[in-house]
Amino acid sequence: MTSDADIIVVGGGLAGLAAAASLARLGLSIIHLSPPAPPDRRTSALMMPSVDFLTRAGLIDEPAAIGHALTAIRIIDATPRLVRAPETLFDAAEIGLAAFGWNFGNQALLARFQAAIPDNGIDTRPQPVADYTRDGDLGVVTLADGTTLRAPLVVGADGKKSRIRAAAGIGVREHAFAESALVCDLELARPIGGTSIEFHYPHGPFTLVPAGGRRANLVWIDEEQVLKNARDGGPDSLRLALLERSQRLFGAIDIVSPSAIFPLSALSVAEAGRDGVALVGESAHAFPPIGAQGLNLGLRDVADLLDAVTATDRTRADWGVLASRDYARRRSGDLARTGFFVDTLFRSLLADIVPSQALRAGGLWALKALPGLRRQAFSLGMGER
Ligand SMILES: Cc1cc2nc3c(=O)[nH]c(=O)nc-3n(C[C@H](O)[C@H](O)[C@H](O)COP(=O)(O)OP(=O)(O)OC[C@H]3O[C@@H](n4cnc5c(N)ncnc54)[C@H](O)[C@@H]3O)c2cc1C
Repeated sequence: MTSDADIIVVGGGLAGLAAAASLARLGLSIIHLSPPAPPDRRTSALMMPSVDFLTRAGLIDEPAAIGHALTAIRIIDATPRLVRAPETLFDAAEIGLAAFGWNFGNQALLARFQAAIPDNGIDTRPQPVADYTRDGDLGVVTLADGTTLRAPLVVGADGKKSRIRAAAGIGVREHAFAESALVCDLELARPIGGTSIEFHYPHGPFTLVPAGGRRANLVWIDEEQVLKNARDGGPDSLRLALLERSQRLFGAIDIVSPSAIFPLSALSVAEAGRDGVALVGESAHAFPPIGAQGLNLGLRDVADLLDAVTATDRTRADWGVLASRDYARRRSGDLARTGFFVDTLFRSLLADIVPSQALRAGGLWALKALPGLRRQAFSLGMGER
């Protein structure tokens, strides 16, 4: 059997498109299976290492052309708990940086990644994948219309419910949280500049992310019913809830986009690749949007995938299997570390027991007071390697 491409990438989200465009830029022939999806209204805070990777890989040019710099993070403990944390400000200047990272609209990023596809192009098809199997050295992908496509390496970037992951038999652990996240764009009377503001409430953070001028992108994590009540009670009910949650620190608030609610879950895989399959993005890992880790981790998947494919001897018939094995090895430490970090952080935010409150408050006091610990926290949060 002959192959139809070097690599088949499944999924047209940010991780899949970043993988397809950057692998094509290495000179590989790519089939990209990207069925139409509703507009992604989220925004992504990407830390400097991710922004540097996107620039190096040619996926974006000047971040300022499509994004907004994140120069500081302010954390306000708004819980009524017995042991509360001090208000804490992390400033990028402390680690000698102009910014921790940049905040981008997901649609702007998708458009930019699309524009980065090399002139000789990739073979993009709008059909979803119905099945996947392995035939010797080739992966065989079956489309919804029954067409089959073959390639040595298949990249599953098909999100949390990944069909490629299931068909490849890669084990997964998933836990659904009672909380969801509401996102929308806001216009504030008092601008937040480059500072991301996080109010910590008992069911999760209420975060205002800089979006330029008086704009901010809201990510509000709370019990799903609380979010639905606020949204479905009409624009005034949502606006009043936002004023209350923001403690009116930024004056009047206008809601300038439709709002969307995302159920939250945590997902991890036994291995990120094997037998000619590599999983990138949320097919391999998902967690609540705190500490801006999800897409940052997804882009580190793409970076390691490029390295694994480049390092593999592609004259061998079984190169897809070798590359997937090398990719899984490169990803294992980062996936375990980041998953543990976000899980611990999220559970500590929700914990109602006094020892956990004390640990979290004590942790923030220590972060406030100890420069060495602050530096370590910066490096962990930014996903430095
Ligand atoms: C509220 C919220 C805020 C966030 N904020 C941040 C942030 O600030 N910073 C950050 O780093 N991360 C953030 N994240 C995480 C980030 O948005 C995700 O990690 C990222 O968008 C996942 O991209 P993906 O391409 O892996 O998955 P998806 O965007 O889910 O894409 C999967 C794609 O696969 C396609 N697909 C599904 N099934 C098939 C099939 N059978 N065949 C073919 N295609 C298929 C779908 O159509 C879809 O296009 C946030 C997440 C949420 C929920």
